Amino acid sequence: MATSYDRVGLCRGCRNAHLVKTPRSEFWLCRLSASDARFEKYPRLPVRECSGYVPGGSGGDEEAEGER
Ligand code: SF4
Repeated sequence: MATSYDRVGLCRGCRNAHLVKTPRSEFWLCRLSASDARFEKYPRLPVRECSGYVPGGSGGDEEAEGER
């Protein structure tokens, strides 16, 4: 039962996003929040418009690409 609805929105494809996984949930952290108060650390999802959006993010898969 596939669904095309994207509950995350722009953060999924944004280079400023970092997916934080916990055993019970997952959170999308906005890295811009560390240097710019206009951005929330954990933006309310789905994000449909964002002035900080930078395309080319990995959709939260960066840890699989060898962060360690
Ligand atoms: S800059 Fe915008 S789109 Fe990118 S991670 Fe932050 S809130 Fe999401």
